[in-house]
This record gives sequence, structure tokens and C-alpha cells, in this order.
Amino acid sequence: MLTLTRAITHIRLDDANSGKLAALDALVAEYFPLCQRYVHHFCTLGQAYQFTDPIFESVLSQRWQRVAIQQASGVAQSWVTNREKDYQHFLERQVDYEAFAPHARKSRKAPVWCEPSFPHLKQICIQANENVVAVRDEEDLPLKLQRAKQGNFDFWLQIATLQKYHPIYLPVKLAKYHREALASHQINHSVSLNRRQDGSWWLTLTFDEDVEPVKDIENYPPVAVDIGIANFITSSDGKRYGTFQEKLAQRHKQDREKRRRKAKLRACLEKKGIEKLPSTSSASGQRLSRHVKQSINHAVNEFFTDYPAQALVLERLNVSTMRFKSHPMNAYLYASQLGHIPDQLVWGAQKRGLPITFVKAAYSSQECHHCHYTDRANRTTQETFCCVVCGHHAHADENASRNLLNRMRDQELAGCHSREEIKVLLLKRHERWRSEQDTGYP
Ligand SMILES: [Zn+2]
Repeated sequence: MLTLTRAITHIRLDDANSGKLAALDALVAEYFPLCQRYVHHFCTLGQAYQFTDPIFESVLSQRWQRVAIQQASGVAQSWVTNREKDYQHFLERQVDYEAFAPHARKSRKAPVWCEPSFPHLKQICIQANENVVAVRDEEDLPLKLQRAKQGNFDFWLQIATLQKYHPIYLPVKLAKYHREALASHQINHSVSLNRRQDGSWWLTLTFDEDVEPVKDIENYPPVAVDIGIANFITSSDGKRYGTFQEKLAQRHKQDREKRRRKAKLRACLEKKGIEKLPSTSSASGQRLSRHVKQSINHAVNEFFTDYPAQALVLERLNVSTMRFKSHPMNAYLYASQLGHIPDQLVWGAQKRGLPITFVKAAYSSQECHHCHYTDRANRTTQETFCCVVCGHHAHADENASRNLLNRMRDQELAGCHSREEIKVLLLKRHERWRSEQDTGYP
């Protein structure tokens, strides 16, 4: 049996414990700036060490400081990795640019490298371990609390505070769907606590789940998928599932309008000196985000209904490569939560024990599936692919997913170390295709 970690999010910690939550607020007032300081420190170094000894003074306990360092190193590490990827992409665009003849260069913008700013932690979040936040059953509580017979809670959080030996105990009540998701699983030791803008505290739990062992890849015909915004999933035989266009895009626009109107109203009231202002946080934004996730889940389920027993070929991608992939729709990127698509696909395949192969995605949307000619000019629009050499014509996402399928057993391409190497290889293949054409028609 294989074990996977899953998360349960959006568990609200009750307002009734306002005194205890105040202790948590006091803690986070120390914790959060410290965490930000370590993020800055690691980013300056260009490297993050999870097990660094504390270097900044703090009133927090050693244990809390360690948690802050660990959390900061995670944030900094992903910033360092993304910066490196962006930089590689910049270099590649520079090579493309310099390949143009001087007169052709005039009409184009030279690529410019902008050093990204260090990550700034906005959402108040504590990624804790059991040294500072422990999950307790009622019978593990101090007797005083047990005697008070606090009622029907699923469990308690014991949280170390700024006051030594004075932990707070927060009762946690799960919603029905949380309990169903958790079923009989054991909760893991790492939990995260989030404070929203309105001051409310929310808990995220994780648990491990056993899944089907992965089946032998040789017995399953492969299917590749291209992931995108216009179409969430496009399979290598041309089926498409889910879209952010139409309804979702419409809702996204409405949501933005609504927030703008609200901000205007606020400004107006403020001018008049009215003290109680309507909130700017958008419940409809959260609703929209939930709706997008549901649409993605729906698309993924449909996909697995059509491909219940096939080996999955996925492109290795993250949101930063996604950004380059679909710049006309940048505005939607945040709302569409693209990362959720590959996550759900991977989870769906793992649950069913279906093998997954990750392949390099570089140039998969620019390469002609027929003759391998690789050029941005092949993409006439976001939707259509039309090869400028051989005229091969297809839906852009379908062309891309068929390229991904071919890459499944492409050892030569898998061995490439950079995007430039991949481009060179693809153009070499195109030359080979061309010379075969020439010998075909002497
Ligand atoms: Zn072609």
C-alpha cells in the first residue's frame, strides 16, 4: 500500500474563545515579523536552510523560533527556485531576440531582466509542528478542563504561548464534511493556523491516506494532457474538459466590478466621516474561488470517466511557467488557480493506482507535432496552431498534448539540461524531417 498526505482546510476556530485567541494574536505579533525577517535573510543568501540556528533576538521560545525558521525557509526556497526559472526564461528570450537580424530587431522589444522583490508575507499563517501546537483528545486535557465538561468537541489544540508553561487549549468542532473526509484517519502532527483579515482564526489539518499501489505501466495505454486556462484539460486525442472562459470569466468580471463599487462607496463614506464602514473583504471572491475549484474537480472527474485505466502523461509545470504559457490571460491567472488542475489530476491517478509520467514541457506548445518546426509564429492565436513550414493545422492545446505524449519515451529530450538544448534538439529533428522530404521528392 502507498500512503499519501491530504489536507482538510477551512476549519474555523470559535469566536467564543476570544480570550484565548487574544493570546494567539499576541504570539503571532512576535512570530510573524520574525518569520518575515528570516525570509529576507534566506533570500539575501540565495539559499534557505531549514535547520539554521536562530540568529535573531526574539522573545519567542526556542521551539517557536525553530518553527519560524522552518516556515521562512520554505517560503524563501520557492522564491529562489522561481527566480532561477524566470531568469532562465529571460536568457532564452534573449537568445531568441539576438537571433533576429538587426532590422527585424528594431520592431521588437529587447527582453529586460527585472530582479524580483523579496517575498512579503501578507496572509498571517503559522505552519506549526507538534512541539508548539499539539492535537489533543479530551481525556488528554488537564483535569481542570476535563471537569468543566466543555461539550461536544472533536478534539483540542494545545498551543504554546508567549507565557512559559501557560499553553492555551482551543476546542475544535469539525463540520460534517470535514468529519467525512477525515473518516477514520489519524491526524498528522503538523497543522497550520491562519488569521484572516477580519481577525478570525482558521485551522488546516493533514492526514495520511492509503491508495492503490501503482499498476504496471506497460499494461496501460498512455494518454497525455495539456493543462491550460482556455481549456483546463486537453487530452492527446483531442478531448477537452472544463474552461475558464464563458461563465467563469463572466463571474470573475462581475466580482471585480463589485469590489470596485464597494471600494468607491467606502472612500465616499470615509470622506463624510462615517465611522462604521462596509468591509472590503470579498465573500463573493471566496465563493468564486470555490466555484473555480469545483469546476476543475468536475473537469478532472469527467476526464477519469473517459480514461479510467490509462497511464497519465503530464507536463512538469508550475504557476511561473504557466504565466509564460498564456500571457493574454494573465489577469485570470490568479483567479483560475491553475495549480489545482495538476494537483487534482495527480490525486485522481494516484487514487486509482494509474501510473503517471512527468515530461518536460518546454516548447511543447510551439513545436509542430508533424515536422517538429518550433517557433512562436506557429501559434497564430491562443487557440489555433498552424505550422509556418508544413502547414500542419490543429487546435493549439491538442497539438501540445500530442507532443507531450511523444515525449513519454523520448530519452533524448529528457536528457536535455536546459530549454535552449531542447530547442536545438527540436530544430535538429525538423532538419531531419526536411531532408527526408527532399529525398522523397528528388
Ligand atoms: Zn510543421
